[in-house]
Amino acid sequence: MNTSNNVLIIGSGISGMEASLMLSKAGKKVYLVERLPLIGGNTIKSGESYPNMDCSTCLVSPIQQEILQDENIEVLTISTVVGLSGKPGNFQVKIHKKARYIDMVECLGCGMCYPVCPIETDNNWEENLVKMKAVYVPCAGALPNVPVIDKDLCLRLNGGDCNLCVEACMFDAIDFSDKDKTLEVEVGAVIVATGYDTAKNINLSRFGYGKLDNIHTSMEFERLCAPNGPYEGNLVLKNTDKKPSSVVFIHCVGRETSGYCSSVCCMYSFKHAHFVKLKKSDAKVYNLYHDICLPDKSYQKFYLETKKNISNFIFYSNINQIEVKEDNGNLIVQYPDNKGESAIIKADMVVLTVPVVPSNGLVELAEVLDIELDRFGYIATETSQIGSIKTSRHGVFVAGCSEGPKDIQSAVIQAEATVANTISLLNQ
Ligand code: SF4
Ligand code: SF4
Repeated sequence: MNTSNNVLIIGSGISGMEASLMLSKAGKKVYLVERLPLIGGNTIKSGESYPNMDCSTCLVSPIQQEILQDENIEVLTISTVVGLSGKPGNFQVKIHKKARYIDMVECLGCGMCYPVCPIETDNNWEENLVKMKAVYVPCAGALPNVPVIDKDLCLRLNGGDCNLCVEACMFDAIDFSDKDKTLEVEVGAVIVATGYDTAKNINLSRFGYGKLDNIHTSMEFERLCAPNGPYEGNLVLKNTDKKPSSVVFIHCVGRETSGYCSSVCCMYSFKHAHFVKLKKSDAKVYNLYHDICLPDKSYQKFYLETKKNISNFIFYSNINQIEVKEDNGNLIVQYPDNKGESAIIKADMVVLTVPVVPSNGLVELAEVLDIELDRFGYIATETSQIGSIKTSRHGVFVAGCSEGPKDIQSAVIQAEATVANTISLLNQ
């Protein structure tokens, strides 16, 4: 078979990056397509990874750098795949690449252009905890460290005469003549590694979310604690410089809506419990749980250590009877105990472990690639019961959380399996 030696990888999280580097080392040319302006995926959102509490940025940064410097890997940020035709070994791919309006070579990432921009909007990447400008990088230390201009928000790109960012840039890096492009490339195989999101469509008002201060989803809490987060890891109560003295983590919030165990929330809640103690050693920590999921043999130790030294584990009998209220400046978590009787915990902060869900845009991508999704909206695999990485279309593989929630280790193992299958296909 006359096959292309190129591979398309969609998504630049830990799975996409791992697969890209392995394929490059095997002599393949990789097109790494990422819809966001930065690479690294959700892994760069966490300060430390469990169970060893390794610094995530220290882990991921060298991988990001290697990707950006690898001549076999063409990184296409703010890009989406809009067409796939052909057959395994010889696919034709159409990629829509949005204009960045900043010259990637000239820009030194000095950040002088952001403060002068008059436009402010919610920073979705930072879970809307802070605002960002129309010219922005999503977070400190983003790679590539080159901002992007939001076409819909920028005054100049919408007929205004604003020139403030251009005047602030000493390196002439801003280029308003940049245009969106459609690229056409040929590849032998495709790997989908679009990662996950956390559920945004769950009604959390019973838990006080959106109504009371200091109630966060787990991803918000992750960003509040992260050194590269909007508060540089300085965990404080809203509008104060006071660290929380008591934090309750409520497990399995929204699990009945998602219809499955997200398999990572217990472990990251234990990690978050550690974060609280690291920020304030005498803080009281509570893990309010119904089930505990420890999907790896190494996790039991972390769980037992958290239970022994870090957090009070309290069983609730019914998630539907949990409510969070405010009384005299305290948050009150009311829950049914193991006998079904109502009990309370007072806290300064409450964290809700909401479900992991398929990444935004996966439905549209599946249509473009002509691959099937499972009943939860993740990419269906040929034999999902035994963990296959083959999708319903021959030559298109799946890795990481686009196939279902999983931890970093499992996502990387799956990425390695896609690489083996890809090489096997291209060598036929
Ligand atoms: S030209 Fe656009 S991006 Fe630049 S400062 Fe003005 S509004 Fe902001
Ligand atoms: S565009 Fe110019 S001002 Fe903005 S980060 Fe790049 S070099 Fe600095």
